[in-house]
Amino acid sequence: GNIVAIVGRPNVGKSTLFNRLTQTRKAIVNEEAGTTRDRQYGKVEWCGQEFSIIDTGGWVVNSEDIFEEEINKQVALAIEEADVILFMVDVKTGAVDLDDHVAAILRRSSKPVILVANKADSNEWQYNAAEFYSFGLGDPFCVSAASGSGTGDLLDEILKRFTKKSEPEIEADIPRFAVVGRPNAGKSSIINAFIGEDRYIVTDIAGTTRDSIYTRYDKFGFDFYLVDTAGIRKKGKVTEDLEYYSVIRSIRAIEASDVCILMIDATRGIEGQDLNIFSLIQKNKKGLVVCVNKWDLVEDKSNKAIQTFENAIRARLAPFVDFPIVYASALTKQRIFKVLESAVQVYKNRQRKIPTSKLNEVMLSAIENYPPPAHKGKYVKIKYVTMLRETYVPTFVFFCNLPQWVKEPYKRYLENKIRETWNFSGTPINIFMREK
Ligand code: GDP
Repeated sequence: GNIVAIVGRPNVGKSTLFNRLTQTRKAIVNEEAGTTRDRQYGKVEWCGQEFSIIDTGGWVVNSEDIFEEEINKQVALAIEEADVILFMVDVKTGAVDLDDHVAAILRRSSKPVILVANKADSNEWQYNAAEFYSFGLGDPFCVSAASGSGTGDLLDEILKRFTKKSEPEIEADIPRFAVVGRPNAGKSSIINAFIGEDRYIVTDIAGTTRDSIYTRYDKFGFDFYLVDTAGIRKKGKVTEDLEYYSVIRSIRAIEASDVCILMIDATRGIEGQDLNIFSLIQKNKKGLVVCVNKWDLVEDKSNKAIQTFENAIRARLAPFVDFPIVYASALTKQRIFKVLESAVQVYKNRQRKIPTSKLNEVMLSAIENYPPPAHKGKYVKIKYVTMLRETYVPTFVFFCNLPQWVKEPYKRYLENKIRETWNFSGTPINIFMREK
């Protein structure tokens, strides 16, 4: 998919625009349960096309007191990772030094840039936007992110700027795995361990740009693609000292994969950046295997210690807790096959189809034992359940008289029952209520 990045100095309205653009999708798609809302990464749908949007400013702590060095990194990251860059300025303040500075960097890049003049709430302010022609980045697009005016035209323009990418040809029924995690978690090490000395690579298919690369491996009895973005095996040009780079870097890999192997450093446990990456995996509804790496460095490997570790991980990632955890060492290669095996298993679980008769037998009896709570004296009756066939994520549809009154906790009860009965470990599932 395409990625759009918003850059600009603080207070020009980046996050307001981000919220405005990501709201286009909410009306169409059911709000996913259990995903943490974040302001940095979202999906936009416009005229039937979907793309991802990142607010690079949202990743910077203390973005209020931003310095030139900071914004340089932000812009470098956008140039490296995005397909289209929205450069936001403020008509009310006009062009300031920092804007000129950013414009100069963007002019030198070959990425498509759309100059967005924000806070153009009236015609009068729109005239002020003329001064931005001096950036040499083409016509400014006047918008008011707060009221939404001009954002439709902006979205049209964004779609126009996407260069058509020919999708790399890969075999659809071979699982695609991405190894993700923060710097030094051991991603490169485990990928090298998977690949080994002798390369069993069948094909190396590069996208037309520097996007995802699928490399196919037929090893250890598993046939899979490793999704690699240019940044994973080689360290990128941009320094990795700011951890949000690793998160933004992983967007393409996550989007292009079926199952993500999330590398956690056993000596550090789960921290903020791990959660951000986890949230990206959830938003994209991908499969998950957690690999607790550097297990060789952990002294206490007793069952009790493992249990404590495991509880801590699941507590941090709740409410999604049904996923495999593998304790491995990329260094000693201990259990690295188990990591692949689990990823293949998760892939299979995503494709699992439950026969309708069996599904109804189990679920209707579970519903009878614990019916949905009545609403204002009216009973919610679930009569029938079916699993959709051609979906990427396992999707269950429950038919009932009052679908809007079946709330999250009850859906969670249904989900737990499904997970108890069948193996959907590692994959999110969708539960929808529909009127019969
Ligand atoms: P990346 O940034 O996620 O790709 O992490 P690297 O693969 O570059 O690993 C970072 C550091 O951790 C390197 O010094 C590795 O040698 C070390 N490392 C990676 N995996 C393990 C492991 O399982 N055990 C130990 N002891 N060290 C590891």
